Amino acid sequence: CGVFGVIGVTEASNFVALGLHALQHRGQEAGGIVTHDPENGFNQARRMGLVRDNFTSADMMAQLPGGLGIGHVRYSTAGSKGQTAIRDVQPFFGEFSMGGAAIAHNGNITNAVALRRELIERGSIFQSSSDSECIIHLMARSMGRSIPDRMEEALRKVEGAFSVVAMTDSALIGCRDPLGVRPLVLGKLGDSWVLASETCALDIVGADFIREIAAGEMVVITATSGVQSHFPFRTAKPRFCIFEHVYFSRPDSILGGRSVYETREAIGRELAKEAPVDADLVCPVPDSGTPAAIGFSLQSGIPYAMGIIRNQYMGRTFIEPSEQIRNMGVRLKLNVNRALIRGKRVILVDDSVVRGTTSQKIKEMILEAGAAEVHFRIASPPTQWPCFYGVDTPERDKLLAATMTEDEMRDHLGVDSLKFISLDGLYRAVGQAQGRDNASPQYCDACFSGDYPVAPSDMIDRGFVT
Ligand code: 5GP
Ligand code: SF4
Ligand code: MG
Repeated sequence: CGVFGVIGVTEASNFVALGLHALQHRGQEAGGIVTHDPENGFNQARRMGLVRDNFTSADMMAQLPGGLGIGHVRYSTAGSKGQTAIRDVQPFFGEFSMGGAAIAHNGNITNAVALRRELIERGSIFQSSSDSECIIHLMARSMGRSIPDRMEEALRKVEGAFSVVAMTDSALIGCRDPLGVRPLVLGKLGDSWVLASETCALDIVGADFIREIAAGEMVVITATSGVQSHFPFRTAKPRFCIFEHVYFSRPDSILGGRSVYETREAIGRELAKEAPVDADLVCPVPDSGTPAAIGFSLQSGIPYAMGIIRNQYMGRTFIEPSEQIRNMGVRLKLNVNRALIRGKRVILVDDSVVRGTTSQKIKEMILEAGAAEVHFRIASPPTQWPCFYGVDTPERDKLLAATMTEDEMRDHLGVDSLKFISLDGLYRAVGQAQGRDNASPQYCDACFSGDYPVAPSDMIDRGFVT
Protein backbone atom coordinates (compact mmCIF):
# COMPACT_ATOMS: atom_id res chain seq x y z
CA CYS A 1 0.00 0.00 0.00
CA GLY A 2 0.91 3.66 -0.21
CA VAL A 3 0.30 6.34 2.41
CA PHE A 4 0.48 10.12 2.23
CA GLY A 5 -0.30 13.05 4.53
CA VAL A 6 0.06 16.82 4.50
CA ILE A 7 -0.44 19.63 7.02
CA GLY A 8 -0.43 23.39 6.56
CA VAL A 9 -1.58 23.86 2.96
CA THR A 10 -4.75 25.49 1.69
CA GLU A 11 -6.19 22.52 -0.23
CA ALA A 12 -4.87 19.34 1.32
CA SER A 13 -7.08 17.11 -0.85
CA ASN A 14 -5.28 18.11 -4.03
CA PHE A 15 -1.89 17.41 -2.50
CA VAL A 16 -3.05 14.07 -1.15
CA ALA A 17 -4.56 13.07 -4.50
CA LEU A 18 -1.31 13.95 -6.30
CA GLY A 19 0.78 12.13 -3.71
CA LEU A 20 -1.40 9.02 -3.95
CA HIS A 21 -1.22 9.16 -7.73
CA ALA A 22 2.59 9.03 -7.48
CA LEU A 23 2.23 6.05 -5.12
CA GLN A 24 -0.28 4.21 -7.28
CA HIS A 25 2.27 1.46 -8.06
CA ARG A 26 2.00 0.48 -4.36
CA GLY A 27 -1.69 -0.35 -4.66
CA GLN A 28 -4.28 -0.07 -7.39
CA GLU A 29 -7.37 -1.64 -5.93
CA ALA A 30 -8.79 1.30 -4.04
CA GLY A 31 -7.99 4.64 -2.45
CA GLY A 32 -9.26 7.00 0.18
CA ILE A 33 -8.74 10.52 1.49
CA VAL A 34 -9.66 12.14 4.80
CA THR A 35 -9.28 15.88 5.40
CA HIS A 36 -10.16 18.25 8.20
CA ASP A 37 -11.34 21.82 8.12
CA PRO A 38 -12.59 23.91 11.05
CA GLU A 39 -16.05 24.45 9.56
CA ASN A 40 -17.05 20.91 8.54
CA GLY A 41 -14.76 18.84 10.73
CA PHE A 42 -13.60 15.59 9.15
CA ASN A 43 -14.39 14.93 5.49
CA GLN A 44 -13.95 11.48 4.06
CA ALA A 45 -14.10 9.71 0.68
CA ARG A 46 -13.20 6.13 -0.20
CA ARG A 47 -13.46 4.64 -3.66
CA MET A 48 -12.62 1.46 -5.54
CA GLY A 49 -10.11 1.86 -8.35
CA LEU A 50 -7.45 4.33 -9.35
CA VAL A 51 -6.77 7.74 -7.89
CA ARG A 52 -7.03 9.45 -11.29
CA ASP A 53 -10.51 8.00 -11.83
CA ASN A 54 -11.84 9.04 -8.43
CA PHE A 55 -10.01 11.98 -6.97
CA THR A 56 -9.63 14.46 -9.78
CA SER A 57 -13.04 16.04 -10.28
CA ALA A 58 -13.77 19.46 -8.84
CA ASP A 59 -16.91 17.99 -7.23
CA MET A 60 -14.94 15.39 -5.35
CA MET A 61 -12.32 17.85 -4.24
CA ALA A 62 -15.00 20.25 -3.05
CA GLN A 63 -16.22 17.53 -0.70
CA LEU A 64 -12.77 17.33 0.87
CA PRO A 65 -11.97 20.84 2.11
CA GLY A 66 -9.27 21.67 4.63
CA GLY A 67 -5.55 22.18 5.03
CA LEU A 68 -4.80 18.89 6.76
CA GLY A 69 -5.31 15.52 5.09
CA ILE A 70 -4.15 11.97 4.69
CA GLY A 71 -4.72 9.26 2.12
CA HIS A 72 -4.13 5.63 1.27
CA VAL A 73 -3.90 3.48 -1.86
CA ARG A 74 -4.76 -0.13 -1.24
CA TYR A 75 -3.15 -3.37 -2.30
CA SER A 76 -4.76 -6.20 -0.38
CA THR A 77 -2.40 -8.48 1.46
CA ALA A 78 -4.63 -9.28 4.40
CA GLY A 79 -8.37 -9.23 4.89
CA SER A 80 -10.62 -9.78 1.90
CA LYS A 81 -7.89 -10.79 -0.49
CA GLY A 82 -8.72 -10.29 -4.10
CA GLN A 83 -12.18 -8.90 -3.45
CA THR A 84 -11.60 -5.61 -1.76
CA ALA A 85 -14.86 -4.40 -0.33
CA ILE A 86 -15.45 -0.71 0.15
CA ARG A 87 -15.52 -1.27 3.90
CA ASP A 88 -11.86 -2.33 3.74
CA VAL A 89 -10.75 0.87 2.05
CA GLN A 90 -8.62 3.15 4.22
CA PRO A 91 -8.06 5.60 5.90
CA PHE A 92 -9.99 4.21 8.87
CA PHE A 93 -11.66 6.73 11.13
CA GLY A 94 -12.60 6.70 14.81
CA GLU A 95 -14.14 9.14 17.29
CA PHE A 96 -12.58 9.23 20.73
CA SER A 97 -13.36 11.27 23.83
CA MET A 98 -10.75 13.83 22.77
CA GLY A 99 -11.84 14.01 19.12
CA GLY A 100 -11.58 12.13 15.85
CA ALA A 101 -8.62 10.46 14.21
CA ALA A 102 -7.99 8.86 10.84
CA ILE A 103 -5.24 6.39 10.10
CA ALA A 104 -3.71 4.91 6.99
CA HIS A 105 -1.50 1.85 7.28
CA ASN A 106 1.06 0.26 4.98
CA GLY A 107 2.38 -3.11 6.04
CA ASN A 108 0.85 -6.12 7.68
CA ILE A 109 0.05 -6.81 11.30
CA THR A 110 1.24 -10.32 12.05
CA ASN A 111 -0.82 -10.77 15.24
CA ALA A 112 -4.01 -9.21 13.84
CA VAL A 113 -6.07 -12.40 14.05
CA ALA A 114 -5.30 -12.83 17.74
CA LEU A 115 -5.83 -9.13 18.47
CA ARG A 116 -9.12 -9.09 16.62
CA ARG A 117 -10.42 -12.12 18.51
CA GLU A 118 -9.51 -10.51 21.84
CA LEU A 119 -10.99 -7.16 20.88
CA ILE A 120 -14.25 -8.69 19.69
CA GLU A 121 -14.52 -10.68 22.92
CA ARG A 122 -14.21 -7.40 24.80
CA GLY A 123 -16.92 -5.69 22.77
CA SER A 124 -15.22 -4.04 19.80
CA ILE A 125 -17.41 -3.89 16.72
CA PHE A 126 -15.27 -4.35 13.61
CA GLN A 127 -16.45 -2.74 10.39
CA SER A 128 -13.95 -4.29 7.98
CA SER A 129 -11.92 -7.43 7.44
CA SER A 130 -8.67 -5.49 7.39
CA ASP A 131 -5.84 -6.17 9.86
CA SER A 132 -5.28 -2.41 10.11
CA GLU A 133 -8.63 -1.78 11.81
CA CYS A 134 -7.20 -3.29 15.02
CA ILE A 135 -5.25 -0.09 15.54
CA ILE A 136 -8.42 2.02 15.84
CA HIS A 137 -9.99 -0.41 18.35
CA LEU A 138 -6.82 -0.61 20.41
CA MET A 139 -6.83 3.20 20.47
CA ALA A 140 -10.46 3.19 21.62
CA ARG A 141 -9.58 0.95 24.57
CA SER A 142 -6.52 2.96 25.55
CA MET A 143 -6.58 5.26 28.60
CA GLY A 144 -4.12 7.64 26.95
CA ARG A 145 -5.07 11.29 27.28
CA SER A 146 -4.20 12.41 23.77
CA ILE A 147 -4.61 10.76 20.41
CA PRO A 148 -0.86 10.40 19.83
CA ASP A 149 -0.60 8.74 23.28
CA ARG A 150 -3.36 6.33 22.37
CA MET A 151 -1.82 5.57 19.03
CA GLU A 152 1.49 4.89 20.68
CA GLU A 153 -0.11 2.49 23.15
CA ALA A 154 -2.03 0.75 20.37
CA LEU A 155 1.04 0.34 18.20
CA ARG A 156 3.00 -1.16 21.09
CA LYS A 157 0.54 -4.08 21.05
CA VAL A 158 0.80 -4.57 17.34
CA GLU A 159 3.41 -6.89 15.83
CA GLY A 160 4.71 -6.93 12.30
CA ALA A 161 5.25 -4.21 9.75
CA PHE A 162 3.62 -0.81 9.89
CA SER A 163 4.27 2.52 8.34
CA VAL A 164 1.34 4.59 9.53
CA VAL A 165 0.21 8.07 8.60
CA ALA A 166 -2.54 9.44 10.84
CA MET A 167 -4.28 12.72 11.60
CA THR A 168 -6.30 14.40 14.31
CA ASP A 169 -8.16 17.69 13.85
CA SER A 170 -4.88 19.54 14.26
CA ALA A 171 -1.94 17.15 13.93
CA LEU A 172 -0.35 14.95 11.33
CA ILE A 173 1.27 11.81 12.77
CA GLY A 174 3.73 9.37 11.23
CA CYS A 175 5.10 6.18 12.70
CA ARG A 176 7.27 3.25 11.62
CA ASP A 177 7.51 -0.15 13.27
CA PRO A 178 10.66 -0.92 15.31
CA LEU A 179 12.31 -2.74 12.39
CA GLY A 180 11.26 -0.12 9.82
CA VAL A 181 10.16 -2.82 7.37
CA ARG A 182 8.13 -0.52 5.11
CA PRO A 183 9.32 2.94 4.04
CA LEU A 184 8.10 6.37 5.22
CA VAL A 185 9.64 9.74 4.47
CA LEU A 186 9.28 13.33 5.65
CA GLY A 187 9.18 16.28 3.28
CA LYS A 188 8.76 20.03 3.57
CA LEU A 189 7.04 22.49 1.32
CA GLY A 190 7.36 26.07 2.52
CA ASP A 191 5.80 26.02 5.98
CA SER A 192 3.90 22.80 5.43
CA TRP A 193 4.95 19.24 6.07
CA VAL A 194 4.43 16.07 4.09
CA LEU A 195 4.66 12.39 5.00
CA ALA A 196 4.77 9.79 2.23
CA SER A 197 5.68 6.18 1.55
CA GLU A 198 8.28 7.22 -1.01
CA THR A 199 10.17 10.30 -2.14
CA CYS A 200 8.55 10.18 -5.60
CA ALA A 201 5.38 11.42 -3.87
CA LEU A 202 7.28 14.41 -2.46
CA ASP A 203 8.57 15.24 -5.93
CA ILE A 204 5.11 15.39 -7.45
CA VAL A 205 3.92 18.05 -4.98
CA GLY A 206 7.22 19.93 -5.12
CA ALA A 207 8.20 19.18 -1.51
CA ASP A 208 11.84 18.86 -0.45
CA PHE A 209 12.93 15.51 0.92
CA ILE A 210 14.01 16.13 4.51
CA ARG A 211 14.71 12.64 5.83
CA GLU A 212 13.31 9.16 6.37
CA ILE A 213 11.23 8.56 9.45
CA ALA A 214 13.54 6.25 11.42
CA ALA A 215 12.67 2.68 12.35
CA GLY A 216 10.67 2.83 15.59
CA GLU A 217 10.13 6.59 15.35
CA MET A 218 6.90 8.50 15.83
CA VAL A 219 6.57 12.09 14.64
CA VAL A 220 3.74 14.39 15.64
CA ILE A 221 3.49 17.47 13.44
CA THR A 222 1.39 20.54 14.22
CA ALA A 223 1.22 24.01 12.71
CA THR A 224 2.39 25.55 15.98
CA SER A 225 5.19 23.24 17.16
CA GLY A 226 6.47 21.70 13.93
CA VAL A 227 7.88 18.17 13.97
CA GLN A 228 8.19 16.48 17.36
CA SER A 229 9.94 13.15 17.31
CA HIS A 230 10.16 10.34 19.81
CA PHE A 231 10.87 6.62 19.95
CA PRO A 232 8.09 4.81 21.80
CA PHE A 233 9.14 1.21 21.11
CA ARG A 234 11.88 -1.04 22.34
CA THR A 235 14.68 -0.43 19.88
CA ALA A 236 15.95 -3.12 17.55
CA LYS A 237 18.35 -3.20 14.66
CA PRO A 238 16.38 -2.03 11.59
CA ARG A 239 15.43 -4.64 8.99
CA PHE A 240 14.11 -2.71 6.01
CA CYS A 241 12.44 -4.78 3.27
CA ILE A 242 15.16 -5.56 0.71
CA PHE A 243 12.47 -6.27 -1.88
CA GLU A 244 11.49 -2.58 -1.89
CA HIS A 245 14.87 -2.03 -3.59
CA VAL A 246 14.30 -4.83 -6.08
CA TYR A 247 10.69 -4.30 -7.09
CA PHE A 248 8.22 -2.53 -4.90
CA SER A 249 9.44 1.07 -4.81
CA ARG A 250 9.57 3.33 -7.82
CA PRO A 251 13.00 3.65 -9.47
CA ASP A 252 12.96 7.45 -9.05
CA SER A 253 12.61 7.18 -5.26
CA ILE A 254 15.48 7.42 -2.77
CA LEU A 255 15.73 4.63 -0.19
CA GLY A 256 18.35 4.53 2.53
CA GLY A 257 20.20 7.38 0.84
CA ARG A 258 20.42 5.49 -2.47
CA SER A 259 18.51 5.94 -5.67
CA VAL A 260 16.40 2.86 -6.31
CA TYR A 261 17.32 3.09 -9.98
CA GLU A 262 21.04 2.95 -9.22
CA THR A 263 20.54 0.01 -6.90
CA ARG A 264 18.65 -1.87 -9.60
CA GLU A 265 21.31 -1.09 -12.16
CA ALA A 266 23.92 -2.39 -9.68
CA ILE A 267 21.87 -5.57 -9.27
CA GLY A 268 22.05 -6.07 -13.04
CA ARG A 269 25.83 -5.54 -13.03
CA GLU A 270 26.20 -8.00 -10.17
CA LEU A 271 24.08 -10.54 -12.08
CA ALA A 272 26.24 -10.15 -15.18
CA LYS A 273 29.33 -10.88 -13.05
CA GLU A 274 27.77 -13.84 -11.25
CA ALA A 275 26.01 -15.44 -14.18
CA PRO A 276 27.49 -14.34 -17.52
CA VAL A 277 26.18 -15.81 -20.75
CA ASP A 278 27.07 -15.36 -24.40
CA ALA A 279 24.13 -13.79 -26.25
CA ASP A 280 23.09 -11.13 -28.78
CA LEU A 281 20.66 -8.99 -26.79
CA VAL A 282 19.76 -8.08 -23.23
CA CYS A 283 16.04 -7.36 -22.94
CA PRO A 284 14.15 -6.27 -19.85
CA VAL A 285 10.81 -7.68 -18.85
CA PRO A 286 9.26 -4.22 -18.51
CA ASP A 287 8.90 -2.21 -16.42
CA SER A 288 10.22 -3.83 -13.28
CA GLY A 289 13.19 -5.54 -14.98
CA THR A 290 14.37 -2.47 -16.91
CA PRO A 291 17.07 -0.91 -14.69
CA ALA A 292 18.59 -4.33 -13.93
CA ALA A 293 18.69 -5.13 -17.66
CA ILE A 294 20.49 -1.84 -18.31
CA GLY A 295 23.04 -2.77 -15.63
CA PHE A 296 23.46 -6.24 -17.10
CA SER A 297 24.05 -4.78 -20.54
CA LEU A 298 26.55 -2.17 -19.31
CA GLN A 299 28.53 -4.78 -17.40
CA SER A 300 28.51 -7.48 -20.09
CA GLY A 301 28.83 -5.26 -23.14
CA ILE A 302 25.89 -7.08 -24.74
CA PRO A 303 23.53 -4.56 -26.40
CA TYR A 304 20.38 -3.55 -24.57
CA ALA A 305 17.16 -3.72 -26.57
CA MET A 306 13.44 -3.43 -25.97
CA GLY A 307 12.53 -6.93 -27.06
CA ILE A 308 9.29 -6.82 -25.14
CA ILE A 309 6.97 -3.87 -25.35
CA ARG A 310 4.64 -2.99 -22.57
CA ASN A 311 1.17 -1.61 -23.00
CA GLN A 312 1.29 1.55 -20.89
CA TYR A 313 -2.39 1.36 -20.05
CA MET A 314 -2.06 -1.76 -17.94
CA GLY A 315 -1.14 -1.77 -14.27
CA ARG A 316 1.04 -4.16 -12.40
CA THR A 317 0.00 -7.74 -13.20
CA PHE A 318 0.98 -9.23 -9.89
CA ILE A 319 -1.13 -6.81 -7.98
CA GLU A 320 -4.30 -7.96 -9.76
CA PRO A 321 -5.14 -10.64 -7.26
CA SER A 322 -7.18 -13.27 -9.14
CA GLU A 323 -5.31 -16.13 -10.78
CA GLN A 324 -7.25 -15.97 -14.04
CA ILE A 325 -6.69 -12.28 -14.58
CA ARG A 326 -3.05 -12.69 -13.70
CA ASN A 327 -2.69 -15.40 -16.37
CA MET A 328 -4.27 -13.27 -19.05
CA GLY A 329 -2.59 -10.21 -17.69
CA VAL A 330 0.80 -11.06 -19.08
CA ARG A 331 -0.47 -11.08 -22.66
CA LEU A 332 -2.63 -8.02 -22.19
CA LYS A 333 0.35 -6.17 -20.85
CA LEU A 334 3.40 -7.42 -22.71
CA ASN A 335 4.07 -8.17 -26.35
CA VAL A 336 7.18 -9.35 -28.17
CA ASN A 337 8.92 -6.98 -30.54
CA ARG A 338 9.13 -9.66 -33.23
CA ALA A 339 11.35 -7.96 -35.79
CA LEU A 340 14.03 -7.51 -33.17
CA ILE A 341 13.95 -10.97 -31.63
CA ARG A 342 13.93 -13.25 -34.69
CA GLY A 343 17.02 -15.48 -34.80
CA LYS A 344 18.61 -13.82 -31.76
CA ARG A 345 20.03 -15.29 -28.55
CA VAL A 346 18.17 -13.29 -25.95
CA ILE A 347 18.86 -12.62 -22.27
CA LEU A 348 15.66 -11.67 -20.46
CA VAL A 349 16.04 -9.81 -17.19
CA ASP A 350 13.16 -9.73 -14.71
CA ASP A 351 12.98 -8.69 -11.08
CA SER A 352 11.56 -11.87 -9.60
CA VAL A 353 9.98 -15.24 -10.25
CA VAL A 354 7.10 -15.94 -7.91
CA ARG A 355 4.62 -18.42 -9.35
CA GLY A 356 6.48 -18.49 -12.64
CA THR A 357 3.44 -17.24 -14.59
CA THR A 358 5.22 -14.26 -16.12
CA SER A 359 8.37 -16.13 -17.13
CA GLN A 360 6.38 -19.00 -18.60
CA LYS A 361 4.25 -16.75 -20.82
CA ILE A 362 7.16 -14.61 -21.88
CA LYS A 363 9.23 -17.61 -22.84
CA GLU A 364 6.36 -18.89 -25.01
CA MET A 365 5.93 -15.52 -26.66
CA ILE A 366 9.61 -15.06 -27.34
CA LEU A 367 10.14 -18.54 -28.81
CA GLU A 368 7.04 -18.08 -30.96
CA ALA A 369 8.67 -14.93 -32.30
CA GLY A 370 11.68 -16.97 -33.43
CA ALA A 371 14.33 -16.36 -30.79
CA ALA A 372 17.31 -18.73 -31.14
CA GLU A 373 17.99 -19.01 -27.39
CA VAL A 374 16.30 -17.72 -24.25
CA HIS A 375 18.25 -17.04 -21.04
CA PHE A 376 16.58 -15.75 -17.92
CA ARG A 377 18.46 -13.62 -15.40
CA ILE A 378 16.53 -12.70 -12.27
CA ALA A 379 17.30 -9.62 -10.17
CA SER A 380 16.37 -11.29 -6.87
CA PRO A 381 17.22 -14.62 -5.27
CA PRO A 382 14.63 -17.40 -5.61
CA THR A 383 11.41 -16.44 -3.78
CA GLN A 384 11.01 -19.45 -1.53
CA TRP A 385 8.94 -18.09 1.35
CA PRO A 386 5.77 -16.05 1.71
CA CYS A 387 5.96 -12.47 2.92
CA PHE A 388 3.91 -11.68 6.05
CA TYR A 389 4.82 -8.01 6.10
CA GLY A 390 2.76 -6.40 3.39
CA VAL A 391 3.76 -7.91 0.05
CA ASP A 392 1.26 -10.31 -1.42
CA THR A 393 3.20 -13.49 -2.06
CA PRO A 394 1.13 -16.66 -2.30
CA GLU A 395 1.35 -19.69 -0.01
CA ARG A 396 4.57 -21.65 -0.10
CA ASP A 397 3.37 -24.45 -2.33
CA LYS A 398 2.54 -21.96 -5.10
CA LEU A 399 6.04 -20.51 -5.13
CA LEU A 400 8.00 -22.08 -7.93
CA ALA A 401 11.29 -21.83 -6.06
CA ALA A 402 9.88 -23.46 -2.93
CA THR A 403 9.48 -26.79 -4.67
CA MET A 404 12.18 -26.74 -7.37
CA THR A 405 15.91 -26.14 -7.63
CA GLU A 406 17.27 -23.59 -10.08
CA ASP A 407 17.95 -26.34 -12.66
CA GLU A 408 14.50 -27.84 -12.21
CA MET A 409 12.94 -24.42 -12.74
CA ARG A 410 15.01 -23.97 -15.90
CA ASP A 411 13.71 -27.29 -17.26
CA HIS A 412 10.16 -26.58 -16.10
CA LEU A 413 10.18 -23.25 -17.91
CA GLY A 414 11.94 -24.80 -20.90
CA VAL A 415 14.61 -22.13 -21.29
CA ASP A 416 18.29 -22.47 -22.20
CA SER A 417 19.47 -21.09 -18.88
CA LEU A 418 18.05 -19.53 -15.73
CA LYS A 419 20.05 -17.81 -12.99
CA PHE A 420 19.06 -15.78 -9.95
CA ILE A 421 21.27 -13.24 -8.22
CA SER A 422 22.77 -14.60 -4.98
CA LEU A 423 21.61 -13.17 -1.67
CA ASP A 424 25.11 -11.79 -1.05
CA GLY A 425 25.16 -10.32 -4.53
CA LEU A 426 21.89 -8.54 -3.79
CA TYR A 427 23.28 -7.17 -0.52
CA ARG A 428 26.35 -5.88 -2.36
CA ALA A 429 24.12 -4.19 -4.90
CA VAL A 430 22.12 -2.38 -2.21
CA GLY A 431 25.41 -1.02 -0.85
CA GLN A 432 26.56 -3.61 1.69
CA ALA A 433 30.07 -4.23 0.37
CA GLN A 434 30.58 -7.21 2.70
CA GLY A 435 27.36 -8.90 1.65
CA ARG A 436 24.84 -10.24 4.13
CA ASP A 437 25.81 -10.27 7.80
CA ASN A 438 24.39 -13.67 8.65
CA ALA A 439 24.77 -13.14 12.40
CA SER A 440 22.67 -9.97 12.24
CA PRO A 441 21.23 -9.32 8.78
CA GLN A 442 20.96 -5.70 7.66
CA TYR A 443 17.61 -6.16 5.87
CA CYS A 444 14.49 -8.25 5.95
CA ASP A 445 14.99 -10.88 3.26
CA ALA A 446 12.60 -13.52 4.62
CA CYS A 447 10.99 -14.28 1.25
CA PHE A 448 14.43 -15.38 0.03
CA SER A 449 15.98 -16.77 3.21
CA GLY A 450 13.07 -17.91 5.40
CA ASP A 451 14.64 -15.82 8.19
CA TYR A 452 11.59 -13.96 9.53
CA PRO A 453 12.59 -10.97 11.66
CA VAL A 454 9.15 -10.90 13.36
CA ALA A 455 7.56 -14.23 14.20
CA PRO A 456 4.38 -14.38 12.07
CA SER A 457 2.36 -15.39 15.11
CA ASP A 458 -1.09 -15.62 13.44
CA MET A 459 0.39 -18.01 10.89
CA ILE A 460 2.04 -20.05 13.62
CA ASP A 461 -1.31 -20.22 15.50
CA ARG A 462 -2.98 -21.52 12.36
CA GLY A 463 -0.21 -24.03 11.71
CA PHE A 464 0.87 -22.43 8.41
CA VAL A 465 4.44 -22.03 9.60
CA THR A 466 6.32 -23.34 12.61
P1 5GP B 1 5.13 -14.58 -11.33
O1 5GP B 1 4.57 -14.30 -12.66
O2 5GP B 1 6.40 -15.37 -11.36
O3 5GP B 1 4.12 -15.17 -10.40
O4 5GP B 1 5.46 -13.17 -10.67
C1 5GP B 1 6.61 -12.48 -11.00
C2 5GP B 1 6.28 -11.16 -11.61
O5 5GP B 1 5.40 -10.46 -10.75
C3 5GP B 1 7.50 -10.30 -11.80
O6 5GP B 1 7.52 -9.86 -13.14
C4 5GP B 1 7.30 -9.10 -10.88
O7 5GP B 1 7.63 -7.92 -11.56
C5 5GP B 1 5.86 -9.13 -10.52
N1 5GP B 1 5.48 -8.77 -9.16
C6 5GP B 1 4.54 -7.85 -8.91
N2 5GP B 1 4.25 -7.74 -7.62
C7 5GP B 1 5.00 -8.58 -6.99
C8 5GP B 1 5.10 -8.88 -5.64
O8 5GP B 1 4.43 -8.34 -4.76
N3 5GP B 1 5.99 -9.82 -5.33
C9 5GP B 1 6.76 -10.38 -6.30
N4 5GP B 1 7.70 -11.22 -5.91
N5 5GP B 1 6.66 -10.13 -7.60
C10 5GP B 1 5.79 -9.24 -7.97
FE1 SF4 C 1 10.22 -7.58 1.95
FE2 SF4 C 1 10.49 -10.19 1.44
FE3 SF4 C 1 10.73 -9.24 3.94
FE4 SF4 C 1 8.36 -9.27 2.73
S1 SF4 C 1 9.59 -11.04 3.31
S2 SF4 C 1 9.22 -7.60 3.93
S3 SF4 C 1 8.92 -8.81 0.61
S4 SF4 C 1 12.04 -8.80 2.18
MG1 MG D 1 7.43 -7.60 -13.70
